[in-house]
Amino acid sequence: MSGIYIHVPFCPSKCIYCGFYSVAHTRDKESYVKTLLAEIELRRDYLSHSPIQTLYFGGGTPSLLHADELSQILRQLERHHDLSGLGEMTLEANPEQLTPKYCKELRTLGFNRLSIGVQSFQEHVLRFMGRRHTAQQAISAVGNAHTAGFDNISIDLIFGVTERTDEQWGQDLDMAFRLPIQHLSCYALTAEENSRLYKQIQGGNHAPVDDEQAERQYRLLHEHLSATDFFQYEVSNYCKNGFESRHNSAYWDHTPYLGLGPAAHSFDGHSRQWNPANLKLYMENVADGRLCEEREELSPTDLCNETLLLALRTRQGLNLEALRVQYGDDFASAIVNHFREHVPASQYENAAGRLRLTADGLWFADGIAENLFIVD
Ligand code: SF4
Repeated sequence: MSGIYIHVPFCPSKCIYCGFYSVAHTRDKESYVKTLLAEIELRRDYLSHSPIQTLYFGGGTPSLLHADELSQILRQLERHHDLSGLGEMTLEANPEQLTPKYCKELRTLGFNRLSIGVQSFQEHVLRFMGRRHTAQQAISAVGNAHTAGFDNISIDLIFGVTERTDEQWGQDLDMAFRLPIQHLSCYALTAEENSRLYKQIQGGNHAPVDDEQAERQYRLLHEHLSATDFFQYEVSNYCKNGFESRHNSAYWDHTPYLGLGPAAHSFDGHSRQWNPANLKLYMENVADGRLCEEREELSPTDLCNETLLLALRTRQGLNLEALRVQYGDDFASAIVNHFREHVPASQYENAAGRLRLTADGLWFADGIAENLFIVD
């Protein structure tokens, strides 16, 4: 089983924190769709005809694609892949596009999951972030999706924003958990190098990201969580039972996937390839029958380090038996010893053959994993 990711590189404007590849106009949308159709055909053998289990339209703002454009893409995917076992079909959407009509069209096309970029329900925070929707539009978007029959709705929220107090963050969480959602992605604000926020901080026009505030608000999130039926299944992801993102979970398991569109990455089990993060270049490449610009072979060490990082970021944790089988008894024992000696007991548990980080430990997951990395 495999997954397909489609990168839609258009946004109405750039949000202040955004480090994803997108362009702030839609004038090349028609050419992009044509190029994508050609790329789907060119790369039809990448996954060796393995059945596709998950399909994910990310971006950028995929909800800027009209139903007829999405339909063309889906028909082309059907022509070249086995979609008979498709269990999850997600579209990332911004609230302003999720009208009742568009939500119904998405359901008719077969989408069964929406990931909505809400970020906050505070108008002043939305304006600071450069979001184009209002809080009311975000609430209506979730309602429209629910009414259209979506019963797997995720929203994104960002915390650690200097402009929002802890109390206001608590209000945002209260509002989120009142909505008919099944999944919540919560990210701490970061200043990505290619974002406007980064430039503002570098130029002294905005305070640096406040790590203490972010950590405090992460803990506040967990206090709110305890009054709900949501649980944390990855550092930044929370859901009701059975609503884990199957597409993202497959990334964390090293399941092969095909990425289509500019800046999209693909993984075949031992190497990664990616398209240029440049729409014009991407379209020229595909027009010339060239598939990708960059490629990285993953050595056994790379794969091992990635396994440690990805597994420790999830509540499933590290499967010690699998680690023993793949990397040997000594390696698995060294990992267990490292935890015993260097990781505070409140940050992990070793039970049922798995090393799992607790909610406390997950906040430090990347640092804990990096200390375990093998260096060649
Ligand atoms: S955060 Fe999303 S909507 Fe905003 S610019 Fe980035 S990709 Fe576009």
